[in-house]
Amino acid sequence: MSDPPAPLFAKIALLGIGLIGSSMAHAIRRGRVADHIAGYAPHRETLDKARSIGFADSLHDNAADAVRDADFVVLATPVGAFGSVAKEIAPHFKVGAIVSDVGSVKSAAIRDIGPHLPQGVHFVPAHPIAGTEQSGPEAGFAELFDGRWCVLTPPPGTDERAVQTVKTFWERCGSNVEIMDAKHHDLVLAITSHVPHLIAYNIVGTADDLEAVTEGEVIKYSAGGFRDFTRIAASDPTMWRDVFLNNREAVLEMLGRFTEDLTALQRAIRWGDGEALFNLFTRTRAIRRSIVEAGQDTPAPNFGRSRKP
Ligand code: NAP
Repeated sequence: MSDPPAPLFAKIALLGIGLIGSSMAHAIRRGRVADHIAGYAPHRETLDKARSIGFADSLHDNAADAVRDADFVVLATPVGAFGSVAKEIAPHFKVGAIVSDVGSVKSAAIRDIGPHLPQGVHFVPAHPIAGTEQSGPEAGFAELFDGRWCVLTPPPGTDERAVQTVKTFWERCGSNVEIMDAKHHDLVLAITSHVPHLIAYNIVGTADDLEAVTEGEVIKYSAGGFRDFTRIAASDPTMWRDVFLNNREAVLEMLGRFTEDLTALQRAIRWGDGEALFNLFTRTRAIRRSIVEAGQDTPAPNFGRSRKP
């Protein structure tokens, strides 16, 4: 049997150790990707939970302490905190360090992190397209990224070796890697992730507001489709608030198209145009089949597991 590959980094700093940061720590451990994992979170309760799980070698309530001597620094906080965290850590980078993030919106990550980075530090933004509706350090698991895509959006002129290193990093965490322009990423994710979440939040909110249908009935008959929306609508409120505030243009563009298409469906129902409905449903069924064929529907092993109290 061949020896496992040597660690890619001596020290990785994970700034934010919720679902994504802690899953990265587990995947880094599993793949022996780094000798030392430093974790940062602002709240003591989060640090205590992380300590009891034991996925980090050192834990810090101060981002600057976590970053010191790190070869690879990853911002894994909500997108809205990127600017303040980047500003705080900027004076503490090791020369030649690679900085990345896992934010669900990439133009805003570049806008908010980029200006704080000193010369000699390489910035390679990333977005692992993997997640669950859970959050916090106890929600993480090593398999989260297995077989999932991770999109890198290096700004023009980024050091090519740094891009390759971050690509290798994500591959060793189990992902497939694609490189894309940040603006294009934001448009693609608006339709594949952001608008679907907004629809879920909206439909669950509407059901909650209905007076003629009781809450008991909504829960009792939820298997009729509603249940799947409630899982998505249970996603972290802070993270998703920040996604919509920071991907405004692309989300509004996609919502405009969505609303037009919804109006066309409304017309079809009103005028009894069964053919239009049948044709659309046939087309969408084919899309579902191609997602299954691409292996992108199988949930990770403990996807959706309950959060510990
Ligand atoms: P999470 O589970 O809520 O964890 C967030 C982490 O950031 C926690 O450790 C939290 O520390 C810390 N944090 C929160 N506010 C902060 C602030 N103002 N300053 C410094 N640290 C702060 O969130 P997550 O799901 O891991 O998401 C993290 C990032 O990954 C987000 O940018 C999100 O867009 C991206 N992402 C998420 C998913 C997903 O499905 N969840 C998928 C791909 C990418 P405390 O607990 O101490 O507050």
